[in-house]
Amino acid sequence: MREVVTAEEGEVFDIELEESLLEANRRLAEQNRALLDQHGIRAIDVMGSVGSGKTSLISCLVERLKDQYRIAYIAGDLTTTIDADLIARHGIPVVQVNTGKECHLDANLVAKALKRLDLASTDLIFIENVGNLICPAEFPLGSHDRLVVVSITEGPYVVMKHPYIFMEAQVAVINKVDLAEVMGVDVGKLEADIRAVNPSLRTVRTCCRTGEGVEDVIEALGL
Ligand code: MG
Ligand code: ZN
Repeated sequence: MREVVTAEEGEVFDIELEESLLEANRRLAEQNRALLDQHGIRAIDVMGSVGSGKTSLISCLVERLKDQYRIAYIAGDLTTTIDADLIARHGIPVVQVNTGKECHLDANLVAKALKRLDLASTDLIFIENVGNLICPAEFPLGSHDRLVVVSITEGPYVVMKHPYIFMEAQVAVINKVDLAEVMGVDVGKLEADIRAVNPSLRTVRTCCRTGEGVEDVIEALGL
């Protein structure tokens, strides 16, 4: 026999704290959005697990789009500057946000990062969230789009096990499709899982290591 314990609504003991926290975050996210809109900036929140390929995708997008848009990059990470250093090689403004123990970016941290950028000289901002498929979904940052990256190496159940992040996103990227056969993962099944969770989500297959599918991501984002 298989027993399942499920937390009921209101049962989590710090639920009041959490609700006021989420509400405060939503207000700050609205302020971020207003600030971005005031400057005519488009911001894209890139979410996904550690190692899914968020930084590689952003690197490809920056390389392809940097002559067309004045791009900036905000990197959320617990302690390192590995991603920020990588993207800085493209010669664009980069702000590193070290969250310490926080496992997601929040609107307050993004507001602080926006203060470090010359917004009058920026058209497009890629915000790389902390590697995590769970709580970033609950913390909107004020971005115009949310893009979630999953990779074949996360296995066949990655979408079914993390539905909320797919509900919050507008574009889903399935990365490392070149590894599908060796990993025994059916890409079509992952796409079907994504459609089941959020039928309006645009889904793109990529191999960011070779640049395959990057044009499709640009089209899905309407850039
Ligand atoms: Mg990264
Ligand atoms: Zn978190």
